[in-house]
Amino acid sequence: MRAIDITFDGDVRPSLLRDSPQRVNVVDAWLLDAMSAYNADSLVNKDGYRGIIQIPGATLEQIIHWTLESLPDEILIGLDADNKRPHLPEVDHAFQGHEHEAGKFAGEGYVLGDATIVNRGDSFSVHHVPEEWTDGIFTESRGPRGGRFIHWLHTHPNAVAIPSKQDAEAAQYTLGVDMILGVQFSPSGPLPWYEDAEGLRRQLQPENVAPVKEKRGWGRWKNRSERPVLGIAPTGHRIHGLELISFHKSGAGINVIFVDDDNLPYGWPFEINN
Ligand SMILES: [Zn+2]
Repeated sequence: MRAIDITFDGDVRPSLLRDSPQRVNVVDAWLLDAMSAYNADSLVNKDGYRGIIQIPGATLEQIIHWTLESLPDEILIGLDADNKRPHLPEVDHAFQGHEHEAGKFAGEGYVLGDATIVNRGDSFSVHHVPEEWTDGIFTESRGPRGGRFIHWLHTHPNAVAIPSKQDAEAAQYTLGVDMILGVQFSPSGPLPWYEDAEGLRRQLQPENVAPVKEKRGWGRWKNRSERPVLGIAPTGHRIHGLELISFHKSGAGINVIFVDDDNLPYGWPFEINN
């Protein structure tokens, strides 16, 4: 399936994620900026976290692509640790804060491997893996997600990336960490942006998002009073914001770092003395 470039209101913007056969490990420029900005925040806030997880940029891009293709549904993604990609010691050293606890979860110390899309649905059904994955065997001990992966990520379309009660319950079966990707988009359909939740939010977007401009009659450009647009999803939705968090089943926050093919964080080295 190929993404379609969509224009709206006379304003031409690039598709958020292009679907091309050669897209492997080629990450869109806006996403590189977003990951660098996110990593800089992760470094500044490192003392608030008990652990670290490293996600390859290409894996994040794949997940965002599936997320946008699936709007307005939620999706559930399974991830394992890539035991051929241990964290670089200098990166761990830089990002481990005062609260860091070694040995907190399975897969610790290894960059995440490829993502697998496991399920799609609403917030109630998305945590349960399809029946053929569990076959009723050990369902109790494997939990509602079937226990096939170490780490899990699910999406919150038009809701903040903060765990719900169901999320906290599903996380009790997670061996590694849980992640939530929040997406703010329009037209929102039946899901208006839901922001009434408590917790620490982490924006995933470039530092400077240009205001949306709209061409009016007589060729004049006029600033629009709408929210900024990061890009256009393959579904035609306008993306206004992304946010991502990670947490351990104990409720402890896990700091996320996005890394390139050399396991270095985007934006490395950072101009921050810590
Ligand atoms: Zn959730």
